[in-house]
Amino acid sequence: MEPDFEVIVVGAGPAGASVALHLARLAPTLARRTLLLERATLPRPKPCAGGVTGKGLAVLGGLGLTLGVPALPIHRVEVSLGAQRWAVEAEGLAVTVARGAFDHWLAREAVAAGATLHDGEVVTGVVVGEAGVRVATARGTYTARCLVAADGGSSTVRKLLAWPPSTHRARLLYVETDGPPEDVATLSLDFTPMAAGLHGYLWDFPSPLPTGVGCHRGLYDRGDEGSRRGNLKPLFRDALAARGVDLDACVLGGFHERELARGVAVARPRLLLAGEAAGIDPLFGEGIAQALAHGGLVAAEVARVATSGDWSFRGAAGRFARSRLGLELAGGRWLANALYQPRGPARLARLFAAPGIASLAARHLAGRLHPAVLAMVAPPLLALGALGLGWRGHPA
Ligand SMILES: Cc1cc2nc3c(=O)[nH]c(=O)nc-3n(C[C@H](O)[C@H](O)[C@H](O)COP(=O)(O)OP(=O)(O)OC[C@H]3O[C@@H](n4cnc5c(N)ncnc54)[C@H](O)[C@@H]3O)c2cc1C
Repeated sequence: MEPDFEVIVVGAGPAGASVALHLARLAPTLARRTLLLERATLPRPKPCAGGVTGKGLAVLGGLGLTLGVPALPIHRVEVSLGAQRWAVEAEGLAVTVARGAFDHWLAREAVAAGATLHDGEVVTGVVVGEAGVRVATARGTYTARCLVAADGGSSTVRKLLAWPPSTHRARLLYVETDGPPEDVATLSLDFTPMAAGLHGYLWDFPSPLPTGVGCHRGLYDRGDEGSRRGNLKPLFRDALAARGVDLDACVLGGFHERELARGVAVARPRLLLAGEAAGIDPLFGEGIAQALAHGGLVAAEVARVATSGDWSFRGAAGRFARSRLGLELAGGRWLANALYQPRGPARLARLFAAPGIASLAARHLAGRLHPAVLAMVAPPLLALGALGLGWRGHPA
């Protein structure tokens, strides 16, 4: 019997919408038989600092899309560690967006490209059989040849199918304030609290508000073995106070993120994970560009399989690991392991002292550098940085 759809995608965030948009380019017939099931009614609020790096903008460009929501262009990323500061400057490093509006725009583009969207419909059950998948929601049951789990960090599909849990779950604290940050074209990352055991950083990002420019401020802790235990709130309170912000006057949000664990399966017969349901970058906790890129890889797998008729997705995990995104996430994990530990602050200072690192970082953020090139040039540059032959951080 013919299934109701060829593909069901659970979650209409950046990963889910990206799957549908890429399918529309690679296999338009499949895209027209793709169902996006979204728990929330769109537009939905999404707690997020809204930083979309050039890597993500490049994916949108590849889809022929120009950003359809207000965005603040970012030309500078500033990294600080105690009294030292380094800056990376270039056009097109990133933009910041309001996430609810951005995700809604992307989902509308997916519908315009042929996908069917059911929002306000939560997925409650999944059965994967030899002949196809069956997905239950509060409103009904749908069948398809395959399922894509793009339902984010707390993926329902993963839970329903008893997918192995993540080893690390990053912790984030986050507030939004009305006034703009010091510079509305700069993303600030402050690694100073690493000295106090944080495996992460504080961020201050400008954010577009209907009334002007506001500021997203937050704390990222990788949540791995040895990272600061217990309550992160006092540390965040002090950091905000140093920025002239009273935590008690803000609405505080606490969240988790899933990082892509080493060797985690991203595919099973008739099933693929996409975006944060699989896992994102453990170094910065960046997930939007990664979700957009992952959508492209997943769509390529589905398009490939649709012609062969073999829905086992054999080899998909290897292709993912060798892809640009797979290499980038593995590199991020390697760097996170090297930096988020007691010797981390000294290593971070050495990293930024390496010659040419600023321009490499700029090209990486803007999506103009392949991670394999970065992996080749980084070790000699780091060695030069360790010898003190490089770029000096300047005192704040
Ligand atoms: C405080 C904070 C700040 C962040 N800041 C940044 C940043 O500045 N830049 C950046 O790149 N990343 C940032 N991130 C990470 C980023 O938000 C995520 O990694 C990104 O949203 C992942 O996209 P996704 O499409 O995989 O998942 P999501 O965007 O989470 O989308 C998943 C969708 O699935 C839906 N869903 C879930 N369960 C079900 C179900 N049972 N049935 C149907 N639908 C379901 C959800 O409603 C949701 O719409 C931040 C995260 C946090 C918590």
